[in-house]
Amino acid sequence: MSKIVFFCIPASGHTNPTIGVVRELVNRGHQVWYYSFEPFREKLEAAGAKFVSCDGCDRELHLTPEEGTKVGKDMAFSIKILVDSTLALDEMVCRHMEELRPDCIVADSMAVWGKAAAMKLHIPFVSSTTTFAFNRHSAKIMKQSLSQVFGMIFSMPRINQDMERLKAAGYPVGSFLDLIQNDESVNTVVYTSREFQPCAETFPENYAFVGPSIRSAQENWLKSRRKTVYVSMGTVNNRMKKLYKNCIKAFKDSEYDVIMSIGDLTGVEELGKIPENFTVKNRVDQIAVLQAADIFLSHCGMNSVNESLYFGVPLVCFPQTAEQGGVARRVRQLEAGVFLKNDRPKELRKAVESVLGDEKYRRNALIISESFKRSGGAKTAAEAILRVAKG
Ligand code: UDP
Repeated sequence: MSKIVFFCIPASGHTNPTIGVVRELVNRGHQVWYYSFEPFREKLEAAGAKFVSCDGCDRELHLTPEEGTKVGKDMAFSIKILVDSTLALDEMVCRHMEELRPDCIVADSMAVWGKAAAMKLHIPFVSSTTTFAFNRHSAKIMKQSLSQVFGMIFSMPRINQDMERLKAAGYPVGSFLDLIQNDESVNTVVYTSREFQPCAETFPENYAFVGPSIRSAQENWLKSRRKTVYVSMGTVNNRMKKLYKNCIKAFKDSEYDVIMSIGDLTGVEELGKIPENFTVKNRVDQIAVLQAADIFLSHCGMNSVNESLYFGVPLVCFPQTAEQGGVARRVRQLEAGVFLKNDRPKELRKAVESVLGDEKYRRNALIISESFKRSGGAKTAAEAILRVAKG
């Protein structure tokens, strides 16, 4: 029996894919501890993990709204947050790990405190990544903008200071890349398929591409006889009233049914009169809706794209961040969808018609779907972790 410790950041998109893996390990008789945050306690305990709360130690939970918008955009600021969290968790995590002596630490690629503890205490380590695996080849598809690169160069002194803070606490880190990037020797579980991963051939065998984990639908949306367009910009930056209004202009009186999830930050009443062929809600059961949809206009969050392709639904991609841009480019590269140039009604109609008018998009989405279903899921992920745990 092995002792496995998981670390994750307080985000559903990073936690959910690991839940099936925890359950699989526990069912096989292994002990699992999961260092996470209160909102996730119930789910993780239900999967059989011993939950350890990191609340109070994570800076990300206590950001001001202005700071929140900087995370992910300002690299130096993001690193500072990660280093602050690592140092806040240092005493508790290192003390627990010394007592527990786990056979393996599994840490989300953003939960750098897990990786840092494994480095400091020489504990076997597995990285868990819910986005694409990252190396210098796949980085090209995740293209950083020129301004980001410049911002990064000018912020190097600040980043280096943060690295010194970690070294002073006994963490053997060279550069910040040691924390946020894995070299090829790091055993890694990636929640997509080799076929969907850009430049998959450049990743060695110790990268386990296990496919996305798709939760069960809680509702039942009946497929209508008309083509159904589903629109969602995700759960985070979804205040996009202009886009929603333009969708209404573009598709009212059209031959399509439209289901629109507008998020909690926009009221349905702000969009004016809702046409008969529209269903507009703040939130829908996306897994149920995708099983009734023919096309998905999406911001291209990794989860939304995985879910869409899993159900063979091609996409119109309207990414809002660099990471979403990378996912969207991969969708376009594999011809499972197109980019939306801008959110004007004419462009919206053109993009939807071009995807629905050419069978190849659905065919390619179905090919990726098959690759997801062949990838082995939680069982393959658990086996990859146990190989590391058993040395
Ligand atoms: N989601 C949902 N209902 C909605 C909108 C989103 O269930 O109305 C779920 C969706 O299925 C996905 C997640 O929220 O699992 C969104 O994750 P993603 O990575 O796509 O985007 P984010 O919200 O992190 O920007």
